[in-house]
Amino acid sequence: MAATVFSKIIAREIPARIEYEDNLCLVFHDANPQAPFHLLIIPKEPIASLFDVEEKTASLLGHLVVVATRIAAQLGLSSGYRLVVNCGPDGGQSVDHLHLHLLGGRALHWPPG
Ligand code: 5GP
Repeated sequence: MAATVFSKIIAREIPARIEYEDNLCLVFHDANPQAPFHLLIIPKEPIASLFDVEEKTASLLGHLVVVATRIAAQLGLSSGYRLVVNCGPDGGQSVDHLHLHLLGGRALHWPPG
């Protein structure tokens, strides 16, 4: 997979406001936040998008979700939040490294655009 801004953040080649890290994933604040809290949860393994998910990726994806829920709790998002995964051009994906958006801190609208 080609290098992306996210692989460069993992490699510390470009800066980011990192909130959490473990051996499988990295969590950092989005550079262009769409809510008072907007973080990105990314696997360290370079998976480009949901198009590339396989059964063997299931436990990693589960880990990303569990980490997201822990971060949401730490941030005090007790009245709710949203996890979003954009996939491909029609899904609005702009960085080809799989990521979960964690959005919270305000009431979010539905449906999204
Ligand atoms: P996507 O549109 O692919 O679902 O989301 C990509 C997200 O990455 C966007 O919300 C965008 O603001 C964020 N982003 C893009 N480049 C950078 C960067 O260099 N640093 C950080 N922290 N976020 C970025």
